[in-house]
Amino acid sequence: MIIPEFEYLSPQTLQEACGLLVQYGESAKVLAGGSDVLVKMKDGLMRPAYLVSLKKLDDLKGIRYEKGTGVVIGARATHNEIMTSSILQTKYRSVCEAAHSMAAEQIRNIGTIGGNLVNAVPSADLPPILIALFAQARIVGPIRERTIPLEEFFLGPGRTVLESGEILVEIIIPDQLTTGSNYIKFGLRRAGALAVAGVAISMTVSGDVCQEIRIVLGAVAPTPLRARQAENVLRGKRISRELIDEAAKIAAVEAKPISDIRGSIEYRRNLVAVLTRRSLKAAIEKGHV
Ligand SMILES: Cc1cc2nc3c(=O)[nH]c(=O)nc-3n(C[C@H](O)[C@H](O)[C@H](O)COP(=O)(O)OP(=O)(O)OC[C@H]3O[C@@H](n4cnc5c(N)ncnc54)[C@H](O)[C@@H]3O)c2cc1C
Repeated sequence: MIIPEFEYLSPQTLQEACGLLVQYGESAKVLAGGSDVLVKMKDGLMRPAYLVSLKKLDDLKGIRYEKGTGVVIGARATHNEIMTSSILQTKYRSVCEAAHSMAAEQIRNIGTIGGNLVNAVPSADLPPILIALFAQARIVGPIRERTIPLEEFFLGPGRTVLESGEILVEIIIPDQLTTGSNYIKFGLRRAGALAVAGVAISMTVSGDVCQEIRIVLGAVAPTPLRARQAENVLRGKRISRELIDEAAKIAAVEAKPISDIRGSIEYRRNLVAVLTRRSLKAAIEKGHV
């Protein structure tokens, strides 16, 4: 199908963009890389009369480190920029690895972190590792600006807390004591496949003791899911193979998967156990974030 007609709007400022979104309401959509919006329009799943492009909004570009704040990733940063960012490679290589696990080169070149998060697809690869790393989302709207934990951003498949006229501006990974983090996904092909399940971990290990931990499951619930009981198995304890196995089993119970063409409920639960075990071991062994 041919993409239906629409009016392309290219605001010069964030405030202008928010204003256009309010003015045109339901008939307008934000356009970042377009890897989702344009595909949906072509498939007849979406028919916005206006596309509000973020292309001229340089405030949303780039990846930088701000002392006292952390790593700031502009919403327009593409997956390839994330993958190759020297700041992220040094500080949070797990985020680069998650970006690398996505799609193919062409999509990674145009798809943005903002689009990946706002899409709120349960199988998306960036939300679990960013939530594991305590990321925050900075949101700007026509009247106010707010920064919230990314963990609170997702409401359900395709639904986020963004209100009318609001734009996701940047993601902040705050400075932290984390000693290791990791993201593993399982897809039905070696590369370029959506996650059937994914598990992200961040850990602070001192000696053999797990001081702090986050386990975040992807593609096995309507939104990215913290496996809090599994975290409690390890938090404050001396790490052992038995505890890792127990945490993995509990994470599988905490998952809330559905059956679909990519896997059944049982299959996904088994995957969560296997991936949690592997991801925990990798986060412990890596000894870097
Ligand atoms: C072939 C293919 C393979 C893919 N494989 C994967 C994969 O393996 N893993 C994975 O996680 N994803 C995958 N995706 C999804 C894709 O990578 C994401 O959808 C991409 O990150 C979207 O970014 P975008 O900039 O293209 O978003 P767009 O298509 O421009 O926008 C997506 C949505 O977000 C909104 N939006 C975008 N930016 C903002 C913002 N800053 N503020 C407010 N709203 C905004 C848009 O209005 C729209 O609703 C795949 C997609 C394709 C087509």
